Amino acid sequence: MAVTAVDDRPLKLPWHDPMWAHMAAGLAAGRVAHGLLIAGTPGVGKRRFAWRLVAALLCRERTADGDACGVCAGCRQRAAATHPDISRLTPEDTGKAIKVAQVRRFSHALHLTPQYSTGRIGWIDPADSLSTSAANSLLKTLEEPPAGCHIVLISDRVSALLPTIRSRCQIWTVPAAAPDTARAWLAGQDFDASRADDDSLRTPLALRARHDAGAQPLVEQWDKDLGRLLARRANPVSVAERAHEAERRLWVDWLYRRCNDLLLAALGADSPSLDAGLAGAARRLGPRRLEAWSRRVSDVARTAETNADWRLVVESVFIELSQYVAEAIDTP
Ligand SMILES: [Zn+2]
Repeated sequence: MAVTAVDDRPLKLPWHDPMWAHMAAGLAAGRVAHGLLIAGTPGVGKRRFAWRLVAALLCRERTADGDACGVCAGCRQRAAATHPDISRLTPEDTGKAIKVAQVRRFSHALHLTPQYSTGRIGWIDPADSLSTSAANSLLKTLEEPPAGCHIVLISDRVSALLPTIRSRCQIWTVPAAAPDTARAWLAGQDFDASRADDDSLRTPLALRARHDAGAQPLVEQWDKDLGRLLARRANPVSVAERAHEAERRLWVDWLYRRCNDLLLAALGADSPSLDAGLAGAARRLGPRRLEAWSRRVSDVARTAETNADWRLVVESVFIELSQYVAEAIDTP
């Protein structure tokens, strides 16, 4: 992930406010830890929070809220992605491990005299991609960083980090958004989140990213297929045909949410992301059958990571659902 990509997006997210107030107090008092681990679920804005902090650390004229001024020499160089005091440690290839040799170069760079008096910044992203040996070779730098240096580590899988890395950092867990806060923020971004469920709203950036990735037309198609299957106007094999070719994580995410929505509707609860047709079908199926189906859906979510025959897995989940539909007609 390029640091420059974060910089042209808004860094202040309303659900970060209480945590930022703590950070700003630390900045004002000159008490910011030298190793900071920014953790949190994907989609809550960890990188934006971390980059807001980096911006503040590199600024000479911070605002009353502790934010970077945006106009001083340090701020301008940071915004132009030419700041000489930022060193990045990221995998050479996306999804691969960070190697020992990279850590050595990174540690060496942090020990060079900074160009500005604000000190050097080390950015490690994602920190959970450090190989064990790379993590071990980072320990000394983390424990005794050069004077004025701050090392910011980003991770959504803190449990995957070596305990020795975790214990040398101050951990800041970026909170999930309250659904109402997220809805208002997304609306301000010209994003219509009125049909989004509360669960997706807790990670607004992930919701936004799914949308941006063009997931919406797929979701609409899957919803339509599901509706036809529940109305016995489509057969499970042809529905599976379309679904199994999609990006697995996206589809499993959809399946999981819809299963949950259907179950809620069957229990008489509100599920705003279901249309009237799907909600009616859920009530006809009833909670007992949908609970049974939800166990199958959980199995599917687990299988997505394995090398099982994915087409058969997807077919089986729709075949089972259509059996429940047939059963509900025979014995309502
Ligand atoms: Zn500034």
